[in-house]
Amino acid sequence: MYKRNDGLIKLPGIKLIDKHNRCLNYLRISITDRCNLRCIYCVPDDIHQRLPHKEILRYEEILRLVRIGVRLGISKVRITGGEPLIRKGVYDFLGELTKIRGVADVSLTTNGVLLRDNIKKIKSAGIKRINVSMDTLSRQKYKDITGHDMFDQVWEGIESAQREGFSPIKINVVPLNGINDDELTDIAKLSFSYPFHIRFIEYMPIGIPRTNNIGKQLLAPEIKKRINEIGELIPVKNGINDGPAKRYKFKGAKGEIGFIDAISRHFCKQCNRLRLTASGQLRACLLSDRQDDLKNPLRKGCLDSELADVFLRAVSHKPFDHNIACNQPGKVAGQMSAIGG
Ligand code: SAM
Repeated sequence: MYKRNDGLIKLPGIKLIDKHNRCLNYLRISITDRCNLRCIYCVPDDIHQRLPHKEILRYEEILRLVRIGVRLGISKVRITGGEPLIRKGVYDFLGELTKIRGVADVSLTTNGVLLRDNIKKIKSAGIKRINVSMDTLSRQKYKDITGHDMFDQVWEGIESAQREGFSPIKINVVPLNGINDDELTDIAKLSFSYPFHIRFIEYMPIGIPRTNNIGKQLLAPEIKKRINEIGELIPVKNGINDGPAKRYKFKGAKGEIGFIDAISRHFCKQCNRLRLTASGQLRACLLSDRQDDLKNPLRKGCLDSELADVFLRAVSHKPFDHNIACNQPGKVAGQMSAIGG
């Protein structure tokens, strides 16, 4: 019915719709578990937790899986990691990815360290939207959180992305009590002067954080309350390509504020995501450790139809909701750097 690797013909009658009637059209791909930063809440301390190189999917393997995904209805792809921009050959890979017919939207999440010097390559590869993670406006705090004195370089990267016309540029911020909670209003104020979309992402208990200081979670209702004190947050309607963020704007601001409140408000009902980990596992829920192996079948020479079956199996097990509650975290064992945020 379909040829191996043809990449274009829709798989007949098959769609990634789960048993709760959610249509999964968004694939987030971690292309490496390596990172050039060591964020206290994300990257494990133990180097042995890193995947051996041969366990990481090769680019051609990822591209084949994306083509199969497209035939099943995937139309939106995000490249993440680890830090995607440290992987050799990433710009050519991004160029190949954006050429795949049927992928309408390819975006990138990066820590921004390599953005300034590579922004033109990212643009030439056809990427239009980027998210940059930046949890603080203080150079010293940036160093404390990430282990590296890179704040200025990241900020220059963000500015260069703006000059090159990337829009919107989303700034990902993970608010942490006792770490950057005193800065949340200053970060939100950036949206007055810059057209950035600031996204406050609730900390999720994934893997083993390198600090015990991530005590009580700082959740979106509290963050919003604090930000509301500097100006009224006016709700912005979500577009069709928008994720689960609740979007707001200050009156007269150039940019926006958003909250990804995965813990305090389970938005699972609207979840349209699948994740492909750096080691080729398909995860239907970020906050559940169930995953379906694509790497071994890929490497054993399975047909596209057999790999499509793995997608369908993963989708059939997508939980309706995750079980992580506020301040009573059920833990997710995988590492965020390998799963991709
Ligand atoms: N290296 C890239 C970066 O820094 O953006 C991409 C990978 S990183 C895992 C993707 C996003 O996940 C970042 O915005 C990061 O802040 C967020 N993240 C990492 N660990 C998290 C956690 N435990 N809870 C919530 N967000 C987390």
